[in-house]
Amino acid sequence: MKTWRCMENCGACCHLDPRDRPDLDHYLTPAELDLYLSFVGEDGWCIHFDPKTRQCRIYEQRPRFCRVQPEIFEQMYGIPKEDFEEFAIDCCDQQISGVYGHRSPKRQQYKQLVGFQGSQP
Ligand code: SF4
Ligand code: SF4
Repeated sequence: MKTWRCMENCGACCHLDPRDRPDLDHYLTPAELDLYLSFVGEDGWCIHFDPKTRQCRIYEQRPRFCRVQPEIFEQMYGIPKEDFEEFAIDCCDQQISGVYGHRSPKRQQYKQLVGFQGSQP
């Protein structure tokens, strides 16, 4: 079984532009949606994302919707814990493809990190 891992120097999931995530209200509570939208900067990136270090400035206090954990994915997306790894890897792959490009070095790096073959090359 593949194991989900977060890649250093990525941050793709901190690109929050709601135009890329039209179903936010399907899995966020109204309060979380307000919080999410308050995080979106003019460039679409989270205002708490440090582009120099590519890290979260409020990592320890980051909200539920930023946490990649089996219990949270079950609560938010209805993903059974046994499917967490595959689902999380796919989420990262889609986000990295969208932000950095389908054929980007970042995506190739992520695929190598998690041993992901994917449905698309
Ligand atoms: S998209 Fe995935 S690998 Fe990249 S920073 Fe977010 S959780 Fe980590
Ligand atoms: S709060 Fe932190 S982890 Fe969440 S989107 Fe913003 S920078 Fe990323």
